[in-house]
Amino acid sequence: MSYDAPLTRPVNIGSVSILPLLDAPVLMDPRHFLPAVAGEFIQEFGHEADERGLFRMSITCYLVRSAGRTVLIDTGIGPRRRPGFPVGGLASALDAVGLKPADIDLVVHTHLHIDHVGWNTVPGGDGSPSVYFPRAEFVVQEAEWEYWMAPQRLAVPENSHLRECVAPLAAEGRVRFVTDETPLDEHLVFVPTPGHTPGHVAIGIVDGPERGLIIGDASHHPAQLIHPDWSPAFDVDPVLAAQTRDALFERACTEGLTWVAGHWPYPGIGRLTRREGRRVYEPLA
Ligand SMILES: [Zn+2]
Repeated sequence: MSYDAPLTRPVNIGSVSILPLLDAPVLMDPRHFLPAVAGEFIQEFGHEADERGLFRMSITCYLVRSAGRTVLIDTGIGPRRRPGFPVGGLASALDAVGLKPADIDLVVHTHLHIDHVGWNTVPGGDGSPSVYFPRAEFVVQEAEWEYWMAPQRLAVPENSHLRECVAPLAAEGRVRFVTDETPLDEHLVFVPTPGHTPGHVAIGIVDGPERGLIIGDASHHPAQLIHPDWSPAFDVDPVLAAQTRDALFERACTEGLTWVAGHWPYPGIGRLTRREGRRVYEPLA
C-alpha cells in the first residue's frame, strides 16, 4: 500500500469495525520533535529517513462503528492553515468512503491538541467557526477540558485552535463530559493514559475475546517501542508519558491487542509482538 492510499476496508474487532481516515501525512524532523535525543534517533533510525532527513508520520482519524453508532475518534489538523502542518483532508477522506458529516453520531477526543480537534469546526460565511458535524455529540474527558480551557491557556495566542475548534462546542451545548473509564457503549471504553496531556485517554475496544486499543498520542513513532523514554517535546509530563507508553506497549504485546496508532505511518493498525527480547510492530496493512 502506498503512503497516501486510503484503506477503504475496515479492520474488525468482533462486531466493531475501524476504518482509518487519513487527515494528513506528516514529515517529522527529530531535531524539533525529540530535541533531547535527536542525535541518537538519527543514528539508530536514519535509514528510515527521506533524503531531507525527515521521517514519515501521519495524522489519522478513525471511524468506528460500534453498537449501531458511527463514532469518529479525533478530528485531525482540520481545514485551516496551521504553522508546521499541511492542511487536513479528513473531509475528502470521509467523502471517499461515502460518508457525510451528518453521518457521525459521536466525536470522541483522545485529547485536545491542535492536530486532534481541527475539523470540529470550519470557518463559516462570516469567518466565525461553525460546527462541522451537525448531529454529533462531542465526548471529552473532564480533566482534559479543565486543563486546556482554563482562562490562562485559552488566552495564549498559539492556542487559537482551542478558541476556534473547542470553545464553540460548549457554546452550542454539544459536549458530553466523561471521567476516567466511563464506557461509551458495550464495546468501547476509555483507558486513562495520562502524560502526553493530563486528561489523555486511549479508547479500548472489547467484543468477546477480541481486543483493540486506539492509543491517541500515547506513542508517536514505532522507535518508542525500543525507547519508551524518548518523549517528544510536547508531552506535558514526559516522565509520566514514558511510563504510560511502556505500560501500553507491554499490555498490547501480552494481550495480543489490535494496536491503532494515529501518528504511526498510515494506517497505523497492527499488532505488537516480542522478537528476540525486543518489541516489534507488525502492521496489518
Ligand atoms: Zn497528536
